[in-house]
Amino acid sequence: MPDLKTITIKRARKSLDAKEYSALELTDSYLEEIRKQDDKIHAYLEVWEKTAREEAKNADKTIERGESQPLTGIPIAVKDNILIEGRVASAASKILENYTASYDATVIKKLKEQGAVFLGRTNMDEFALGASTENSAFGPTKNPNDLSRVPGGTSGGSAAAVASGMALVALGSDTGGSVRQPSAFCGVAGLKPTYGSVSRFGLIAAASSLDQIGTIGKTVADAQALFNAIRGHDEKDSTSLPESSRSDLGNSKGRTFRIGVPRSLFANALAKDSSERFEQSLETLRVKGYEIVDIDLFANPQVPLAVYYIINPAEVSTNLARFDGIRYGLSIKAETIEEVYSKTRGAGFGPETRRRILVGTFVLSSGYADAYYRRAREVRELIRADFARALESVDAIVTPTTPGPAFKFGEKSDPVAMYFEDIFTVPVSLAGVPAISVPSGTVVREGVSLPIGFQIIGTHGSEELLFAVGKDAERV
Ligand code: GLN
Repeated sequence: MPDLKTITIKRARKSLDAKEYSALELTDSYLEEIRKQDDKIHAYLEVWEKTAREEAKNADKTIERGESQPLTGIPIAVKDNILIEGRVASAASKILENYTASYDATVIKKLKEQGAVFLGRTNMDEFALGASTENSAFGPTKNPNDLSRVPGGTSGGSAAAVASGMALVALGSDTGGSVRQPSAFCGVAGLKPTYGSVSRFGLIAAASSLDQIGTIGKTVADAQALFNAIRGHDEKDSTSLPESSRSDLGNSKGRTFRIGVPRSLFANALAKDSSERFEQSLETLRVKGYEIVDIDLFANPQVPLAVYYIINPAEVSTNLARFDGIRYGLSIKAETIEEVYSKTRGAGFGPETRRRILVGTFVLSSGYADAYYRRAREVRELIRADFARALESVDAIVTPTTPGPAFKFGEKSDPVAMYFEDIFTVPVSLAGVPAISVPSGTVVREGVSLPIGFQIIGTHGSEELLFAVGKDAERV
């Protein structure tokens, strides 16, 4: 059997089609690995051993008939906020602990059509709010590189599962960095696609104008293969982009790419060794013929962060209004309907979720909406314009994915300190452009080597370019 720590989709596809091993054997190896490791890492909230084995057997029949598609028989982990018919999808919240999905998310439908194998649902910060997976109502996930540290969040379970060989690839969701940041902390590749390029139908909404399902793999090629399987227009998602918005490298193949570095954004935010790793990744590109130029992006990186932390809570407070103890999930009995609402929501939501609802309700309330929410919307347009302008003169922009490596549990108990983790990832989400985090070597903390990430940002629809640059930059 293959080494689960290094196997890629391409390798597995070859071996499966050549019958070196079966999809069932491959799935069994993953299930075995999960049994061995997940007690200590806690990447999964639930493992679907029985159905995973059935799906693998079906994949073997498809392979036998010579009809395999790119992901037939490939074992995948799914973040707990993506719906699979007949399965619990809890968004790591007590309020949805026993909620069973009644339909498949579009991405799941597409993966089922390919004959992929679903290993289980992965841990996350409740409702995708956080940056460490500490906000899960079911206990945190640990970083496979150092169990005293967080895996990042909110797709911490998905990133940890891929990094530790407990899934070949995984689906996550990224609202303000939740695929890129845990990928950076766990040492894997994570893509936030262009807003609208992957259907959000069947994704439990956090902040609808920012949410996007993303992909995590050990390599850029794996994240790419999973993206190719789930992308595309979907009439069930009103913000879905038309097929024509796809772009390929086209006639830019073979041309020298220009990479812009907005140094003033992170000049003072990085430790010396993180900064060195960033420069090394840049050098890797330079050596491969890329042209590297300094650019200006926005004057103050704290502005996008402030804008995000108005728009995100505003949309979260609106989306989470549907969890009222009547329509979905948890319901606590009481004398009056108001009491049902307040008791259910009080018992069902964790502290960070409540904080977002309070902030969101405040910034949307009459008298404050103009000063906060509308203002933030206006500044968001300026940020979008800043990216558009910068991406006219360069093909891609690069930054570190995060200010530093994985931090310790409890280290960012101050919510604002946690929000600062997102400083390099949220601007991308506000602009709706795609970005990928690729491994950028390691830094040593307390004697342990910890991965950090290199973020590559492109214009809308430029995923193919990001994959090409990412493959040149990644250090696996
Ligand atoms: N850390 C950010 C937040 O808490 C991003 C989360 C996400 O991308 N889902 O909102």
